[in-house]
Amino acid sequence: MMELLPGSTIGILGSGQLGRMLAMAARRMDYHTHVFSPESGSPTGQVADREFAAAYDDLEAVRRFAEGVDVVTYEFENVPAQTADVCAEVVPVHPGVQALHIAQNRLREKQFFVEIGLPVTPFKAVDSFESLVEGLARTGYPAVIKTAESGYDGKGQYKITSEHELDKAWEAISGRTSILEGFVRYERELSVVAARAVGGQFAHYGLIENRHRHHILDVSIAPAPVMGEIAEQAVAMVQRLLDALDVAGVICVEFFLTADGRLLANEFAPRPHNSGHLTVDAAVTSQFEQQLRAVCGLPLGDTGYLCPAAMVNLLGDLWRDGEPDWSSLAAFPSVKLHLYGKRQPRPGRKMGHLTALAPTAAEAVDRVITARRSLSGE
Ligand code: AMP
Repeated sequence: MMELLPGSTIGILGSGQLGRMLAMAARRMDYHTHVFSPESGSPTGQVADREFAAAYDDLEAVRRFAEGVDVVTYEFENVPAQTADVCAEVVPVHPGVQALHIAQNRLREKQFFVEIGLPVTPFKAVDSFESLVEGLARTGYPAVIKTAESGYDGKGQYKITSEHELDKAWEAISGRTSILEGFVRYERELSVVAARAVGGQFAHYGLIENRHRHHILDVSIAPAPVMGEIAEQAVAMVQRLLDALDVAGVICVEFFLTADGRLLANEFAPRPHNSGHLTVDAAVTSQFEQQLRAVCGLPLGDTGYLCPAAMVNLLGDLWRDGEPDWSSLAAFPSVKLHLYGKRQPRPGRKMGHLTALAPTAAEAVDRVITARRSLSGE
């Protein structure tokens, strides 16, 4: 593949905040962006050069979109595979259609982890009440059942703590093909955001610690406070995954760290990740510039951190009593505000984030949480 230089046009499937931040990184270097999704006036569309608003299965519209760009990438992994396939007939799609296909289905994803030797919690495919019962014999209690497709942020998930909950669990997935997983009593949740260039060059942002609330990412911290040996193991696993997928792009792998120091791979996203947002302010090369470089066939940028950082998400809940008190951020000169241009602040919806930079990760966490509190007048 040729190197795509400034002036080239990047096609983005999906139009949320990830596409928006990619488009912003692209604009800085005078790349053009075209975005395709069913929405108009989207977070990405507001900053892209062109916005195509059509259904993902409107394959004529998809083809027209692909014909106007030099490369296609995606920021949303539930883009139908067929949509990506049509793009791939016209221009390169990075990371490839295969990575998308695997990441779209939790069963394929876990099976792929196993095939390449990444440790995972015991799991079983569930497509009938009998297979649920069989699966529980393997995982024991508690277990988590998740629909294999189109679940995110804890949607389509149910924790089973005893056999009395079997009927409820079966009802919760309502007959959809699912994955049953042994519940992990983890000490920490961690992620690695990494990139692979067209020729195989690899770069990573080290281990990031993630804390969730109600299954939605709440706080990310870099560097994660874990031993170097664990970070090395995690990074080696991620490199193995990227090499096995043979992709160019940015990928994030989420891990559980157990109390006895074992890493278990939970899932991967074939795109920049919420936990990597702190790289925008804290790293030499942000995860979005890195995505741009990778999909354009350029060498990867330096992933070093300028200083420790912590990020908190701003969910729609923060808008419950009206607009947050933005002026309160004046008291936090090292906290960076990011807003995604979403007009409707629904509870649980990711509206923006804050990143704090500080001499230590612990101070960054304190600072960013205090800053978020000040937004709601606390
Ligand atoms: P996921 O959609 O797989 O990322 O799950 C969302 C969140 O649910 C994770 O970040 C964990 O906090 C929790 N979770 C998911 N799977 C498990 C598991 N097997 N054991 C314990 N917690 C889990």
